[in-house]
Amino acid sequence: MSSSLQSLRGFADILPEASARWRKVEERLRRTVTTYGYEEIRFPLLERTELFARSIGEVTDIVEKEMYTFADRNGESLTLRPEGTAGCVRAALQHGLVHGGQSRLWYMGPMFRYERPQKGRYRQFHQIGAEVFGADGPDIDAEMILMTGRMLRAIGLTDVRLELNSLGTPAARSAYREQLQAYLRAHYDELDDDARRRLDTNPLRVLDSKNPAMKGVIDGAPSLLDALDDESAAHFAALRRWLDDAGQPYTINERLVRGLDYYTRTVFEWVSDRLGAQGTVLAGGRYDGLVAQLGGRPTPAIGFAAGLERLVSLVEDSGEPAPVRGADAYLVVAGDAVRGEALRLAERLRDRLPALRLQANSGGGSFKSQFKRADRSGARYALIVAEDELAAGRVGVKDLRDGGEQQQLDEGTLVERLAALAARRREDTERGG
Ligand code: ATP
Ligand code: MG
Repeated sequence: MSSSLQSLRGFADILPEASARWRKVEERLRRTVTTYGYEEIRFPLLERTELFARSIGEVTDIVEKEMYTFADRNGESLTLRPEGTAGCVRAALQHGLVHGGQSRLWYMGPMFRYERPQKGRYRQFHQIGAEVFGADGPDIDAEMILMTGRMLRAIGLTDVRLELNSLGTPAARSAYREQLQAYLRAHYDELDDDARRRLDTNPLRVLDSKNPAMKGVIDGAPSLLDALDDESAAHFAALRRWLDDAGQPYTINERLVRGLDYYTRTVFEWVSDRLGAQGTVLAGGRYDGLVAQLGGRPTPAIGFAAGLERLVSLVEDSGEPAPVRGADAYLVVAGDAVRGEALRLAERLRDRLPALRLQANSGGGSFKSQFKRADRSGARYALIVAEDELAAGRVGVKDLRDGGEQQQLDEGTLVERLAALAARRREDTERGG
């Protein structure tokens, strides 16, 4: 295949072997958010560029250099969503889900960022995220943090740690911003190019630098927590108390800022030490100003997003058995004369056993080649439809794992046998898969 027809760099295909694992992770995450009363929202992959520029902020990595932006045939500037919050808030505002009580929404799907592809960092990646509108108190912050911890446990991750910080109100932050700028200017010689560039536009982002050479300067910077306004400080103290009461460990990371401009007060991250530099698996926080910024009435809000590639790779590395793949049974057809009858039998079985994975042979072939395909399908049983047995109301059944003799079963017994098999496979899938 010519390389020009292969997938784009940073855009991965998820093949059947991996997709079974993905589906399991997605299903468990989905189940957990649902148990907290969140409802799913689906919004477009494509929005006007202005939506992201206005909500994420002009001087962020995402808007400055990571967006897939292009003009459509009408000359309108459009952007593939780089994250979910902007689109979620837009949709919720447009359809009246933001005002008039609280709402709790979750979403899942692909996001697009033009970044340098590397382990844990792709150009198309997937997130599950959730947003709560209209809840102001630290109780919802605490609940969301506990929920995200439960989500990670639900997929078997127990070695992730929680980091916490507060960004305060925009007013407190702008006072801190000046203090930080003065500090960074005094250390100008030690700053890398990125930091120098951000010094004037977005100095808080300097704290988020991933350059090890910057660690010394960053460690010495004034603390954002010391600059908190009274209300944010009280909010943060209450949140910490709730987490302590719930027995949820955390560390305060005064350098924790988010890549997006719209955050206020609480920010949190779940971090794994098993992913190298790309250690953040889930990140969230409060963004009390965003709804008003996008034209709604001032509405407090909090949300999170988790990167599925990073979660799936952690689950895979933790040695959990891969989900059971393949069929339960494979239908072998002995000759053209019974092909129609075999198809009808397969449909009857599917009617009676909706959970059964039944793969019927397609395209004829000798007995031997059909059995080969049956083996390859992963099926436990081969079902054999042949003329004489059919006339006697029987179907041949051969257990492909124990190498036992073929049995002739009537259809009722066959259904019972297959029902038990499908139930067992389902249990395995639930447990391991
Ligand atoms: P980072 O600091 O790693 O660039 P970010 O601050 O840009 O992360 P967010 O916008 O907060 O990330 O996204 C939330 C989560 O989505 C991240 O913690 C990560 O798990 C995942 N994520 C972000 N960008 C990518 C990417 N390019 N590829 C894969 N996962 C990603
Ligand atoms: Mg980023």
